[in-house]
Amino acid sequence: MTDEPLYRAPAARPPLVRAPWTDDQVASLVAFQRDARWHEFTCGRCGATLNPRSDGWHCWRDDYRQDWAHEFMTDWSWRGDK
Ligand SMILES: [Zn+2]
Repeated sequence: MTDEPLYRAPAARPPLVRAPWTDDQVASLVAFQRDARWHEFTCGRCGATLNPRSDGWHCWRDDYRQDWAHEFMTDWSWRGDK
């Protein structure tokens, strides 16, 4: 199952990157989830913090999956240092 962002204005919608993700993309997502400056991706069912893997987001409490992330979350640009 996939939950698309509700906001669809083309000019404002950030590009999405779908799984499978590379090791570097997963590493960026892991670090993003741990950075207090950003609100982490959470489970659409129970609200737990999602864990990124190469095949998408996984909830550690249930079988919720999500297969997309915002591009800036996957390429380290969220750190603001490049
Ligand atoms: Zn969950």
